[in-house]
Amino acid sequence: MNEARPRLLVVDDQPINVQALYQALAAEHQVFVATSGEQALKLALEKQPDLVLLDVVMPGLDGFEVCQQLKRDAATADIPVIFVTAHSDEAGETRGLDAGAVDFIAKPFNPRVVRARVKTHLTLKRQSDLLRRMAFIDGLTGLYNRRHFDERLQQEWLRAQRNGTPLSLLLIDLDGFKRYNDRYGHPAGDDCLRRVAQALALGLLRPADLLARYGGEEFAAILPETDAAGALALAQRLGQLVQALALPHADSPAGLPVVSVSIGVASRPAAAPGEPAGPQSELLARADRQLYRAKAEGRARTCSE
Ligand code: GH3
Ligand code: MG
Ligand code: MG
Repeated sequence: MNEARPRLLVVDDQPINVQALYQALAAEHQVFVATSGEQALKLALEKQPDLVLLDVVMPGLDGFEVCQQLKRDAATADIPVIFVTAHSDEAGETRGLDAGAVDFIAKPFNPRVVRARVKTHLTLKRQSDLLRRMAFIDGLTGLYNRRHFDERLQQEWLRAQRNGTPLSLLLIDLDGFKRYNDRYGHPAGDDCLRRVAQALALGLLRPADLLARYGGEEFAAILPETDAAGALALAQRLGQLVQALALPHADSPAGLPVVSVSIGVASRPAAAPGEPAGPQSELLARADRQLYRAKAEGRARTCSE
């Protein structure tokens, strides 16, 4: 019921301070409380708050150490930290900023000032979250972009190596798309790209599959734990789904009256865990060779090794 409210983590070893902050903030925020540095780290990871209000002086892990550890862990690094401190001197503030804090509030605090600062940093956090999301999403299709694809391929490549699981890759290219633009216009071309992106996304069934816009009219899919036979079957189905959209393409070089794609498939078989494998770029190059073959053999088809 209150889940839409911003989530705050208040950390202080003195119950009276916790209570004062809770009273200042509980009406408009969902407040979690930790009374030690250790508990704060655990709750930050578990609850993923939007902001942390952190006491500096605590027995055990102090505020500086907690802040540093939050910033070191990728899972908590983006959560802003405000120090709430009784000793606001320049050396302390410098240390706090070095540890990764975004702001300071002096104790004893004025509840209205606390609310105002919290509001400001929550707004900034929302904006930076949005920017981060935009940084790896393709604006036209809403799919992941090339940058995110490259990162994830690297991760999946290492995971496949660690776990001894297969990994497959698809490169998917629209057929005769220059002619499509020439005949129907660029806005219609953009619309076609969106429709094809949507059809491909619906065709990938496993949550671990990742689809990206790889370039202009080219898409790529990472298929973890999928062998060559599985990837080929899936690619053929994706090709059919695109044709089933029945988007007219009167000038198609593929010999069909509708928009179609050519697909290249490459797979890395399951290896023994830890067994060294070639670089991931080799998988991409192999998929690209198969895509080239699909084009050369007439388009609107899938080729694999
Ligand atoms: P092939 O079957 O050999 O792949 O031929 P093709 O015409 O699809 O390939 P080519 O690489 O010659 O041309 C790709 C075209 O895709 C050229 C470009 O105008 C178009 N294109 C790339 N990005 C976009 C985009 O964002 N929007 C639109 N409308 N067209 C795009
Ligand atoms: Mg093309
Ligand atoms: Mg192309």
